[in-house]
Amino acid sequence: MYNLDITHAPDEGGHFGKFGGRFAAETLMQPLKDIEEAFYEAWADEDFHAERLDLLKNYVGRATPLYHAKQLTAAVGGAQIYLKREDLTHTGAHKINNTIGQGLLARRMGKKRVIAETGAGQHGVATATVAAMFGMQCDIYMGREDMARQMPNVLRMRLLGANVIPVDSGTATLKDAVNEALRNWVATCEDTFYIFGTAAGPHPYPLLVRQFHTVIGQEARAQCLDQAGRLPDVAVACVGGGSNAMGLLHPFRDDASVRLVAVEAAGYGLESGQHAASLAKGKAGILHGNLTFLLEDDEGQVQGTHSISAGLDYPGVGPELAYMFEQGRLELDASTDEDAMEALQLLTRKEGIIPALESSHAIAAGARIAKSMAADQIVLINLSGRGDKDMNTVFKHLGWVEDAS
Ligand SMILES: *Cc1c(COP(=O)(O)O)cnc(C)c1O
Repeated sequence: MYNLDITHAPDEGGHFGKFGGRFAAETLMQPLKDIEEAFYEAWADEDFHAERLDLLKNYVGRATPLYHAKQLTAAVGGAQIYLKREDLTHTGAHKINNTIGQGLLARRMGKKRVIAETGAGQHGVATATVAAMFGMQCDIYMGREDMARQMPNVLRMRLLGANVIPVDSGTATLKDAVNEALRNWVATCEDTFYIFGTAAGPHPYPLLVRQFHTVIGQEARAQCLDQAGRLPDVAVACVGGGSNAMGLLHPFRDDASVRLVAVEAAGYGLESGQHAASLAKGKAGILHGNLTFLLEDDEGQVQGTHSISAGLDYPGVGPELAYMFEQGRLELDASTDEDAMEALQLLTRKEGIIPALESSHAIAAGARIAKSMAADQIVLINLSGRGDKDMNTVFKHLGWVEDAS
């Protein structure tokens, strides 16, 4: 089922068109090149893939199902909606595909310690999980603000043996956690591997993360052909940094008949200024080691973002998505907090599946698109994670529990 060819690779400097690249502290240039070299070497090694694919199957639970959501389809009216069930993976979201891959790479390079950034805590949990399994020391950088909002994930990481290090700089959220993790890595790269959480960052991370997630789209493509006898007409994924989107969409890039749709977080609305829609509303600039679209204020400062889903609350976006958008291969859509909250309830009521708030942005947009299409057409939506972590936010929104904050 899995094709191991690397297509649409960036150039030697890690550029996708004008986007991407490797803008990093001088001390990190060699470690980044070492990772790139180790990655290409590992990717050409059958044993690496044998172990990776065995873990994805028996530890993560792949292949995840492709589910024809007939009740949701009937409720929406229009195209047939299929859900790629990344919510059923171990730890409950797609992120583990990437941390297994980078964890194996870290071990291969002889590193004894891994570090990572996290926002909502999902990447932190997926990293701590793999570190526990591989017996590695694990330090997770997390904004103090995010720690307060996501205490269950903080405690989960501790239980897994990881150290959660609070970050107080800036707005004490995800972008500050990335800065702090990079700062630590400058001092520790000798024995430490930085497991980056999304398809962004300096080269080779966008490539690495994409490759480790392509299992999503490759499975979905084969499953759709098998179940429906044809490819989907549209493939839809939400975008924080772009890892689940690249994972789903990349394997369909050369299928000209398949529309590729990225759904950004519109927060309180695209015109409100309080959103995280870097592609729709950002401009080109450098953030966390790569040139991409990002949200800046008039002084060129990285803008504060807002989304009800912490996992989409990031002022940048992966450089390859910026490139695909600029090339006209990627369509943009956006869902507000309210759209996502409604879609979460709709899917829950119609299918008995509680999606993550991030994924609910994709469900909302996918349903809107399906509605405008014919019943013999297919909309494939990536259900990137399950909603357990978001229950507090949802219950507060519904007024079922008191808002303690
Ligand atoms: C982290 C997360 C996202 C957003 O990250 P990407 O790198 O853009 O995929 C989306 N969905 C879930 C469930 C997540 O945990």
